[in-house]
Amino acid sequence: MSELSSPAPSSSVPVLVIGGGPAGLTAAAELQRLGQQVEVLEKDPEYVGGIARTVRYKQYRFDIGGHRFFSKSNEITQWWRDHLPPGDFIQVPRLSRIFYRGKYFDYPLKAMNALLNLGIFTSIVCVCSYFWRKLFPIQPERSFADWVSNRFGDRLFNIFFKTYTEKVWGMPCTELSADWAAQRIKGLSLLTAIKNALIPQKKDAGAALVKTLIDEFEYPKYGPGMMWEKVAADLETRGGRVRMGEGAVKLKREGLRVREVHSVNQAGELTVRPVDQVVVSMPLREHVLAYDPPLAPEVVAAAERLQYRDFLTVALMVRGSDLFPDNWIYIHDPAVKLGRIQNFNNWSKFMVPEEGTTCLGLEYFCFEGDGLWNMTDPDLIELGKRELEQLGLVSAKDVFDGSVVRMEKAYPVYYPGYADDVETIRGALSQIENLQVAGRNGLHKYNNQDHSMMTALLAARNLAGEKWDVWKVNTDAEYHEAGESGQEKGRLQPQRLN
Ligand SMILES: Cc1cc2nc3c(=O)[nH]c(=O)nc-3n(C[C@H](O)[C@H](O)[C@H](O)COP(=O)(O)OP(=O)(O)OC[C@H]3O[C@@H](n4cnc5c(N)ncnc54)[C@H](O)[C@@H]3O)c2cc1C
Repeated sequence: MSELSSPAPSSSVPVLVIGGGPAGLTAAAELQRLGQQVEVLEKDPEYVGGIARTVRYKQYRFDIGGHRFFSKSNEITQWWRDHLPPGDFIQVPRLSRIFYRGKYFDYPLKAMNALLNLGIFTSIVCVCSYFWRKLFPIQPERSFADWVSNRFGDRLFNIFFKTYTEKVWGMPCTELSADWAAQRIKGLSLLTAIKNALIPQKKDAGAALVKTLIDEFEYPKYGPGMMWEKVAADLETRGGRVRMGEGAVKLKREGLRVREVHSVNQAGELTVRPVDQVVVSMPLREHVLAYDPPLAPEVVAAAERLQYRDFLTVALMVRGSDLFPDNWIYIHDPAVKLGRIQNFNNWSKFMVPEEGTTCLGLEYFCFEGDGLWNMTDPDLIELGKRELEQLGLVSAKDVFDGSVVRMEKAYPVYYPGYADDVETIRGALSQIENLQVAGRNGLHKYNNQDHSMMTALLAARNLAGEKWDVWKVNTDAEYHEAGESGQEKGRLQPQRLN
């Protein structure tokens, strides 16, 4: 492959969007609404939707994790409704539990359920360990382990937080930044959980909404991919282009303007596109390292430090329906590598074509290139069958088919110091005049779809002359899991730059 072999398109692309996930497609749709000509580059040859795609295997469909559609932003909820007819959404009753030592614990955690399941002796130890930490809190509170132990006590931290969190992130909880706990478990402690369980909560409109979000959620009947495939098709109908299987590899700049985007297709052929403006939702590390000439050495060094956690789903087709009532189950048992199980029958019956069968999504957290990632698909399917049987959830002989999907960079890692690195990068990128960034990995933020989309809407509007701060869109991705209401008002409020 040589750059000389690539004829550059002669006219420039008015706006090129890198990435065809929720952020890239939302930005492109908004730009089109604002009257711009857009082109999207998506490196995957088959699927749009990024992590929020829905994979098809034979007649079965499954997500990369299950993707609920919920948002505190009316604008995002309305956007979803505008882009997919109401009949394509279903209301899904929600049930998710934690499986620990052969018992099911409610998730979100409920104090009474947890204490009863643990038994009187362990419960007393948990409460004592909580008060011990109240008397002797870990200060300063730097890590996820410090944050959770201070609010729940060391014993409950070990039972309900340590194993699963370490499976997800692949690092000790002592090395994971306290920011992540503050975002995920915000405001909750053992005492507030017990208080909530004992004292009836005053209901306000916010609480009612949060309760609804906990009890049921919206979901496109063929999975989130249905939404993103429709958005991509609509873009093309209106004259936009979605170029599948083309990954951006270089951003050629002159001073503080991006002049060209170089991309490579599946055959390894290079295309050079002159661009007027760019929206980038590709991972922040790759984005920064793609500049030619490179950005300042300290910015490149910050980008090189950014870390990601990867993910793979082993979808297993199983004889029998009604295996368990949950949408998903967290597996806290350290004896298995499995982190979470999705039961797609309980997301949408439209995803499972054959009656009397079930499609389970077994989620394994890993690093690209590690032992799990490099296992062959048949070995991963065998591992999945073995672990389901070991947990007593499904008998291996009932599994009749399987498929594996590897998803790189599923999670941006909040390692200690990541916020300084992101800040260094943000400062440099904000100098580039014709660039906007958006999305989850695009901003290195643990964003759900709605937050990723909100950053994309604002990025598109910035190109049209508005001034929004995409880095300040709130990231309380699991706000309703905490079961708190009043605090949530006003979340996802975009902030204008002064
Ligand atoms: C297990 C799991 C469960 C989740 N559950 C939910 C949920 O229930 N509800 C919810 O709202 N959110 C959920 N999320 C979050 C949601 O998936 C993300 O917020 C959303 O997908 C982010 O959109 P994005 O466009 O920023 O990034 P991505 O989805 O990562 O999309 C980025 C796209 O860019 C493409 N790309 C990357 N590099 C290049 C390149 N160089 N050139 C061209 N294209 C490129 C990728 O192929 C991809 O298609 C979940 C995430 C995970 C990991």
